Amino acid sequence: MTYTYTCAKCGEIVEFTCSIAEKDEREKALVCPSCNGREFIRVFNAFIARRRESSGSSKCASCSATSCSSCR
Ligand SMILES: [Zn+2]
Repeated sequence: MTYTYTCAKCGEIVEFTCSIAEKDEREKALVCPSCNGREFIRVFNAFIARRRESSGSSKCASCSATSCSSCR
């Protein structure tokens, strides 16, 4: 199983793969790599996939900026 969490402080996405039996231990030991926060919100892969998709579309194909008129 792959478990995905987002940091409650900075939104960093942390994933780990382990068995269901190990999950609670791993969850307790989780520390955010970017802010050292220990509060996480469990997220599901479908949600992450949507987020990745929408962040990808914020940059348009015709320019490298993210704020031209065709960027969303
Ligand atoms: Zn964080």
